[in-house]
Amino acid sequence: MLQDLKYKLARFMTGRYGMDQFGRFLAGVTFVVLVLGFFSKKAIFTYIILALIVYMYFRILSKDIARRSAENQKFLTFYSKITLRLGRTKHRLLDMKTHHIYKCPSCGQKIRIPRGKGKIEISCPKCAAKFIKNS
Ligand SMILES: [Zn+2]
Repeated sequence: MLQDLKYKLARFMTGRYGMDQFGRFLAGVTFVVLVLGFFSKKAIFTYIILALIVYMYFRILSKDIARRSAENQKFLTFYSKITLRLGRTKHRLLDMKTHHIYKCPSCGQKIRIPRGKGKIEISCPKCAAKFIKNS
């Protein structure tokens, strides 16, 4: 019986697109909206959730595999750009705790100096100008 159901499902899914990274992302978004909707109790969330679920299943059951995988590729490009940017921001924020960025007063070159060293003389690596800073 279960075997039969599995077979039927497999036959139904033949030639259909199925799940991909974009689909999983949509499922994640749906879950977040579901939680938000649960707390805010606004009707609009129900419509958003319904639209997301319909769109998700439309993609899973779609037979236009070329178009769906092109969408997924677009999503992956977009997603990697976002995570890269977030990673850079996180790195910069962590770096601010241990280092200070000074600008050379004569040429504008940015110089990264460790914090907590007291009064130090910095010499610019670009134009060799010297200036005093409290690190
Ligand atoms: Zn300089």
